Amino acid sequence: LMEQNAVQTPQVIAPARDGVGVSPKEQLLKQFTEGGGGEGGLFKQLAGNPFFTAGFGLAGLGAAIRLGQTGLRRGAELLRHRMLVDLEITRHDESYQWVLNWMTRQYQSQLNTSSSSASASQSRMESLIRRFTPGLHHLQIKTSSIKAANGATSTHFNLVPGHGRHMLRYKNAFIAVSRERTGKSFDHQGQPFETITLTTLYAHRHIFEDIFAESHALSRQSVEGKTVVYTLRNMQWQPMGDPKRKRPFESVVLEQGLKEKILGDVQEFLDARTWYLDRGIPYRRGYMLFGPPGTGKTSFVQALAGKLDFNIAMLSLSQRGLTDDLLNQLLLNLPPRTFVLLEDADAAFSNRRQVDEDGYSGATVTFSGLLNALDGVASAEERVVFMTTNHIERLDEALIRPGRVDMTIRLGEATEWQIAEMWNRFYAHHDLDGSKKERFMARAREFGLPDTVSTAALQGLFLYNKDDAEGAIDMVEHLAPKQV
Ligand code: ADP
Repeated sequence: LMEQNAVQTPQVIAPARDGVGVSPKEQLLKQFTEGGGGEGGLFKQLAGNPFFTAGFGLAGLGAAIRLGQTGLRRGAELLRHRMLVDLEITRHDESYQWVLNWMTRQYQSQLNTSSSSASASQSRMESLIRRFTPGLHHLQIKTSSIKAANGATSTHFNLVPGHGRHMLRYKNAFIAVSRERTGKSFDHQGQPFETITLTTLYAHRHIFEDIFAESHALSRQSVEGKTVVYTLRNMQWQPMGDPKRKRPFESVVLEQGLKEKILGDVQEFLDARTWYLDRGIPYRRGYMLFGPPGTGKTSFVQALAGKLDFNIAMLSLSQRGLTDDLLNQLLLNLPPRTFVLLEDADAAFSNRRQVDEDGYSGATVTFSGLLNALDGVASAEERVVFMTTNHIERLDEALIRPGRVDMTIRLGEATEWQIAEMWNRFYAHHDLDGSKKERFMARAREFGLPDTVSTAALQGLFLYNKDDAEGAIDMVEHLAPKQV
């Protein structure tokens, strides 16, 4: 067969071109193959030699195979180039997490399909899914534990697609997914550099837009109308559990007009971005909220964040292990649109020395550390810090500077106006003519509640007597200040 091929090929070409309008090149070929018209042309002679033919055939075959291989590779590359589209997302892009979450959703729905299908078709379905979605066998577990203020810990598990290659099916298109670590480098937060590459047929490229729209919607859905609360974990800000429902602004009752005053100030600051930047003034504002415990300092910041569509990064300055350096780092690396809430700011006031009572040094924030962190390198992003303290008498003059503390606000015990407002929030719908409220307020006055009771204590009484206005009226005396 080889022999035939080697010999036949030129012969097939030559007669076809014989005769009419022969070009010099073709003539040469003709001469070569037919030996100038005479018997036993050079090629024929050689072709007649079995050794030569075998060698020539083999060499030809080798060349053909080599040519075929490169051709195939080139072809595959070309095909790939022409027919496939890659899309690369790096970990540091905002969309990275959305896409990862979206993929998790896809895998989960595929898993669910397989487990909820009827038993007869189940195994077929499962084997199909397994064939097309090897990613199902390569999931990664992401565990997050959240420690609540009362000490209770809750743990969430989430399955995310692991590293390596996966196959996904989406709207009739197959997508090859490759999640990879790039190199051995880590970013400043100790996270490895990673990319996700999605590959699909060129003809299906439009589904990338759908995927992004869907994953963006998914991520919006999970945070819309919610407040993300970040806390300190592993030396960095991390979301504490799932985003929480926004705390309604109306649910916090401060002295008449106070809430609106602070809201107005923050709003004005946020609107003045270019004013600050044009003048080279660090774009920051600080608020000090002080007053006894349970007067709504923390709740107010939460409600304000909800109102202005901000998240909160929360930290207690008395927290063990929080150093000056770490505080500085944290304030420099805030998530976008996030208010900072530094609780127990007075912890730093009493730490003027580097060493605290038990001789433990460097593991708490010092006053100069706090000042440094507040004055840290300015960024173009706004930074709004709320500090809370129960001990305003310890507050130092050095804090009252623009950009450190611009406004000092006292949240005190409930005034008469606040008591009445709190009542309305709990019982207005049970007390349409307001007669119960009048009786309640009379008793509150009688027992000296105004300006002595905390809003938290009032809330406690109303929660205990939920939907029971009479019960609340009866129990007023329990909130009376203790006689000494
Ligand atoms: P603080 O930070 O001043 O110690 P919190 O904001 O933690 O007080 O309040 C403790 C609890 O009391 C919360 O459940 C909060 O809802 C309630 N509370 C305290 N003050 C108010 C207020 N002014 N209006 C509404 N609820 C309040």
